[in-house]
Amino acid sequence: MTRPAFELAYRAFRALLLLAWMSFVALSAGATPVPEVHLTSTFAEVALGRSSEVLHDRMGTMDLEAVRRSQQWRKLSSDAVPGGYSHGVWWMRVRVTNSSGAPLQAILDLNSPLQDYVQLLQVDPSGHVVHQDEAGDHLPLSRWKSGGRTLRFLVSLGTAESRDLYLRLATEDGLHVGVRPALRSLPEQSQHDQFDTLVHALYFGMILALLLYNVVLFLSTRDRALAYYVLHLLAFGTWAWTFRGYGLKYFWPESPAFNQHVLLASISLSVVTQSLFLMHYMRVRVDAPRLYPVLVAVTAANALALLSPLLGGYAGPFFLACLGVLAGVVITYACAGYLLRKRSRPALIVFVSFAALALGVTMYLLRLLGALQPNFMTEYGPEIGSALQMLLLALGLADQMNTLREQKLQAERHAAAAQMALVEQLDTLVKARTQELEQVNAKLADLSIKDELTGAYNKRHFTEVFQTELARYGRQGGVLSFCMFDVDFFKAYNDRYGHPAGDAVLRKVAATVRARLRRKGDRLFRLGGEEFGVLLSVDRPADTVARYIDGLRQAIADLGVTHEGSPFGKLTASFGLVILGSASQGEALDPEAVYALADRQLYEAKRNGRNRVEVEA
Ligand code: GH3
Ligand code: MG
Ligand code: MG
Repeated sequence: MTRPAFELAYRAFRALLLLAWMSFVALSAGATPVPEVHLTSTFAEVALGRSSEVLHDRMGTMDLEAVRRSQQWRKLSSDAVPGGYSHGVWWMRVRVTNSSGAPLQAILDLNSPLQDYVQLLQVDPSGHVVHQDEAGDHLPLSRWKSGGRTLRFLVSLGTAESRDLYLRLATEDGLHVGVRPALRSLPEQSQHDQFDTLVHALYFGMILALLLYNVVLFLSTRDRALAYYVLHLLAFGTWAWTFRGYGLKYFWPESPAFNQHVLLASISLSVVTQSLFLMHYMRVRVDAPRLYPVLVAVTAANALALLSPLLGGYAGPFFLACLGVLAGVVITYACAGYLLRKRSRPALIVFVSFAALALGVTMYLLRLLGALQPNFMTEYGPEIGSALQMLLLALGLADQMNTLREQKLQAERHAAAAQMALVEQLDTLVKARTQELEQVNAKLADLSIKDELTGAYNKRHFTEVFQTELARYGRQGGVLSFCMFDVDFFKAYNDRYGHPAGDAVLRKVAATVRARLRRKGDRLFRLGGEEFGVLLSVDRPADTVARYIDGLRQAIADLGVTHEGSPFGKLTASFGLVILGSASQGEALDPEAVYALADRQLYEAKRNGRNRVEVEA
């Protein structure tokens, strides 16, 4: 086929199409048939989604007449009018016929408090508007004719009356929430509202209880995680309260704009406080240091999103808030997932609790999309999910505080035990050191009163003891004996055998004498050179003293130390003895005098040939 021929054929075909279209439009110039619902005497509830038709007026310019004649009506596959962004208007229509045999009233409930502008046009079969109502969360509550938590309208039908209900859903700036209109009898609506109120009372009651409980807990513990959790409950509770329409209904009925601000702000605040809580609860900074800056950034972004209403409108800020929520969820799962690998219990609780919330919300959304049947779980999915989440997190917090307290107690117990052990150790050490010190002191004291070479008491000690013993003798009486002895020809011994041998002999003599001093109070003194003193205790009987001293002399001689320089051929000593009998009791004795007496006797012993005892009695 040539090119001009082709073009001709194409034009003819187009003209034909246009003709067909025009004749079709001309034929269908009247109103198109409306799907019908019969309300019988047993009527309770009709979900309008599948029983009605919807029309999307993309430009938002069509009036009732135009939509009535439109060929664009189509059936819905779910019972929700599609939500999402569209600057157009959604129309829904259904013909209701009262087949109950009596006048009938019903409620058309949108099952949502959120849709900017809603209009219900009740039209009789001839096309006249019989009744017209408006509602919408961009209107003050006083303009809603049928005041409820959700958007709703009253439909009154006379016996056998038919009306076409045209529902017009418009938005301020393009955000359609996806309402699910249902027609209910008055008793059914009342029952529905009661149940709804009960569920929400339980739900908000739980949030309030958790809130108060955690406030009290925070006041007593001052735990930062708890503070953020409390703030989160507050923000999230506010959002849920407003989202479900209670804010507009009870708190600010005449301020729909404020209602929007609260909705937006509570979403972002909820994410901000939740992120702050999770930061502390999961110890992200310490345990997931790489994810921490991301979490901080997401938190900051959500905090910034709080300013988004300044941009104006609702759809834009809402979109930003949703992005913030999404980012919050992603980073939360990232942190929890990462920390789960480190076996963090808080992470496990966060993971499970967020899964519960996600499941609840998903069920709700799937129901909106028509993928799930309406039932309690799908209707109240967000409430059930978030309740589970809040409870789990509260339990997790309590569990964490318990663990922390347990760890603290354990640490305290360990510290106390360690302290006790330390104290005991210190005590033992001090005791040991004290004992050592005492021993050293005793040794020092001993050294200070003893002669180094022979171990006999030294001259200084002799002076003290001699004085006290004489004084005691003066007080108590009895027999006190003092003797001095001096090694014979000791100079000669030294000269012949050497000084060290002389030293050894002195030690031997002292040891021999000391070994024979058995009574307590008998003492040996080295008075100087090879001269010694023996003090015998006061209670020794006088008659035995001289014999005893002679025994000492004999013992020295019996040592058998060879002394070639001595006429005796062995080492001997001479003794001068003074015995102070009871006769001299009460006298104050002069130590020097007694000493001189003994010295004198020793001199006598030397003069009388040595190796003998001379006694002064
Ligand atoms: P006598 O029988 O008259 O007592 O004669 P003697 O030689 O023992 O008397 P003298 O007093 O002349 O000598 C004492 C000597 O004792 C003099 C001194 O060298 C010696 N001597 C004094 N102290 C010590 C000492 O600690 N060790 C030694 N090896 N000798 C000493
Ligand atoms: Mg001598
Ligand atoms: Mg001498």
